[in-house]
Amino acid sequence: MKYISTRGKSPELSFCDVLLGGLAPDGGLYLPKKYPKFTENELGLMRSMSYQDLAFKIFEKFIDDIPLKDLKEIVGKTYTPEMFGYNRTNQNPNDITPTLKLDDNFHLLSLSNGPTLAFKDIAMQFLGHIFEYVLTKNNKTLNILGATSGDTGPAAEYAMKGKKGINVFMLSPYGTMSSFQAAQMFSLHDDNIYNIAVKGVFDDCQDIVKAVSNDLHFKAENKIGAVNSINWGRILAQIVYYFKGYFDVTTDNKALVDFAVPTGNFGNICAGHIARMTGLPIRNLVVATNENNVLDEFFKTGNYQPRSSAATIQTSSPSMDISKASNFERFIFDLLGRDSGRLSGYWKEIDQGGSFKLSEEEFDRISDFGFISSSSQHINRIKLISNYFEQFGIMIDTHTADGVKAALDHIDKNTPMIVLETALPIKFEKSILEATGKKPKRPNALKDIELLDKKLEVLDNDVDLIRSFIRENI
Ligand SMILES: *Cc1c(COP(=O)(O)O)cnc(C)c1O
Repeated sequence: MKYISTRGKSPELSFCDVLLGGLAPDGGLYLPKKYPKFTENELGLMRSMSYQDLAFKIFEKFIDDIPLKDLKEIVGKTYTPEMFGYNRTNQNPNDITPTLKLDDNFHLLSLSNGPTLAFKDIAMQFLGHIFEYVLTKNNKTLNILGATSGDTGPAAEYAMKGKKGINVFMLSPYGTMSSFQAAQMFSLHDDNIYNIAVKGVFDDCQDIVKAVSNDLHFKAENKIGAVNSINWGRILAQIVYYFKGYFDVTTDNKALVDFAVPTGNFGNICAGHIARMTGLPIRNLVVATNENNVLDEFFKTGNYQPRSSAATIQTSSPSMDISKASNFERFIFDLLGRDSGRLSGYWKEIDQGGSFKLSEEEFDRISDFGFISSSSQHINRIKLISNYFEQFGIMIDTHTADGVKAALDHIDKNTPMIVLETALPIKFEKSILEATGKKPKRPNALKDIELLDKKLEVLDNDVDLIRSFIRENI
């Protein structure tokens, strides 16, 4: 299996090289040269597999430069009941991603039972183990530099803490994360984890990461790497739970299902697209956005017009407050029949702060890929959170509520609809209290997380300061 760049001007690479690199040298994103296909027969065999075996069976088709025995071990170490044990259904501790039935043909796929209580753990935990494996084998080290507004940082740090050959430098805006999110990150005291609170906003943190990553000399000299959402390993790991959800709600391997996916950087739903391309019988992929509805606009009009960070609204589903989806290019590449010339033309506009509009013929093709969309407002989320609490006694978080809203807009009674749960409500206490009048229950282990000793460095918003900090600590 070789990987190619969406822009068509980069060398073909194998999995491990794609894994440790970021953007392709031509500015594009790597994708498999050809999607593997699962036959109906194979789906039949996969149906009864454990999550671990299912993950291995899927990864094996995308990875040919790691011995299978080692790959199996990595997967086994990653998806343990202990690590993904925050299982509120408590039915089967080995079920890494349990499905919860909400109504006839309406299901919630629980993806937030990992250590930081958001779906990002599923991919990050895998990265932690596979990075350590690849680095150790090649006798290399990696210094991960990232920026977080709340969910990516904790997921990355819990995955990388204590791993050999890896340091993490995570920038976050000083004093703006939820107290729970801040406590999650800052209470880690591992030697290889560095929390840097920057006196600025999230965009300032992101700009620092970009500036450092564009400084090729510094980057090479200090072995700087990333775990941001364009990382192919993250997308790959997320393909697995689409299969798992499908098998949970169907009884044969021809039945069609729909998925509704809360979307920010288009990573999670891009994994759904790839699952569909490999033969999983998905009918619709419902793109769910909040008030930052650039993607909803695109799927309704064919016009992709990213917005500036100043025009991006702060909402009650903050992990989706994104107006330029970094993985979107991967889907458009497939939509355009993998015409990298055409794609490069469109992204030339985007990279200059512009927009593009699909031709009519291209726009018509979207339905061949099953994509439809919706957006939600704060009031929709609050009402849904309140309804679900009263009706079923379950609390959903604000991001999952975006997904439920989009699912209800498009559900058809004869096709199972699966909403992807992306975080647990305890991460967003304030909105849950507003909706239900109650604070979500916390397990004992997390009761006083805000009171734990914090390890962080507060630095001014200055690239040079961050550069020196990294240099001094590696
Ligand atoms: C990151 C995140 C999303 C958005 O996922 P993408 O892969 O960026 O589309 C949605 N909900 C939550 C809770 C998240 O942390």
